Amino acid sequence: MIWPAVAWASMARPSEPILHVDLDAFYASVEVLKDPSLRGKPVIVGGTGSRGVVTSASYEARRSGVHSAMPSVRARRLCPEGIFLPPDFEAYRVHSNRFREVMLSFTPLVEPISLDEAFLDVGGATRLFGEPREVAGKMRDAVLEGVGVTCSAGVASTKFVAKLASAHCKPDGLLHVPATQAIGFLEPLPVGRLSRHLTQLAHGLDEREVIPYEAPKSIGHEETFDRDLDDDGEILRELLHLSGRVAARLREDGYRAHTVTLKARLANFTTLTRSRTVRDPTDVGADLYQVAGELYRALPGTGRRIRLLGVQASGLVRAGAEQLALLRAGRWDDVERTLDRIERRFGRGSATQATLLDRDRGRPRSPAAARDPTLDPGFRGSGEPPYNR
Ligand SMILES: [Mg+2]
Repeated sequence: MIWPAVAWASMARPSEPILHVDLDAFYASVEVLKDPSLRGKPVIVGGTGSRGVVTSASYEARRSGVHSAMPSVRARRLCPEGIFLPPDFEAYRVHSNRFREVMLSFTPLVEPISLDEAFLDVGGATRLFGEPREVAGKMRDAVLEGVGVTCSAGVASTKFVAKLASAHCKPDGLLHVPATQAIGFLEPLPVGRLSRHLTQLAHGLDEREVIPYEAPKSIGHEETFDRDLDDDGEILRELLHLSGRVAARLREDGYRAHTVTLKARLANFTTLTRSRTVRDPTDVGADLYQVAGELYRALPGTGRRIRLLGVQASGLVRAGAEQLALLRAGRWDDVERTLDRIERRFGRGSATQATLLDRDRGRPRSPAAARDPTLDPGFRGSGEPPYNR
């Protein structure tokens, strides 16, 4: 049986999953796209005034010693035949967006560094596109086709080495540095190449921005049942359970939701989804359940048999300060936050609403609830929400 081993090997994370992709002389290259008569000429973007600096130079201009961040006075002296152009940031942004689209068509793990360069982790893209080195080759083709500009790509086990590799093979190059050869690649490089970043830090120069946490679009939970559910009470109880799970995630991640979506897949695989947006965003299971339950009851038809239920919260906003909690004091969120604390201390399911105690879907009924029906507050089969608010 060799196939499973091959399958496993193809799924294993490659040892050099990191790409650094950098468009070549980006601004100058876009200027050439705008005016093809500039191709092959020393194009210099920026520095059109007497006190400006060069922001980008074509490789023809670089041969004269011109590089970005150089004062224009010096650039003019080094390259008197240079064609100096004012920057056209609108055009650069359009092309940068295309660049981003191309990269995202390979992997969602793209970390932009600036308009024209990015780190990518293609460790999860190998099944679709091949080994990272192949991914880099395909990406370079796709960038040239989609953006019209050549790029250089470094492939390595770390961002640091990948970035040095792409710089090393510019322009229009591809350099793969196997993890085992990283030291051999680094050692002969001029120390300036390695310490440029350190030099900048030593001079207090550090343009790295603070990258905020990206808010998720939605937080949801769904379950497919071992057997189809046809009892409204039981279905509502599952919605309560799902709403509680979603709310706990919202609280844990620090979000409140404006919109609740119910998803119900029927036994015949028809899937129904219904959404409602509420005025006050919430992270309380009872609130989510209130909406999800109403959406469920408003579904058309009767005698439904439910195969899957889902509750999703979207329209997320960052949970504010405690003032909202004060406004809500005494409501269900106090109870749910207390349950959060108990679960954090004693594990999931260590405390729950009595209503959910004897959910029997794939779980043993709670012995206590089975023995003493008064522990179950008569929710089953009533079709009424289990909360009295
Ligand atoms: Mg670049």
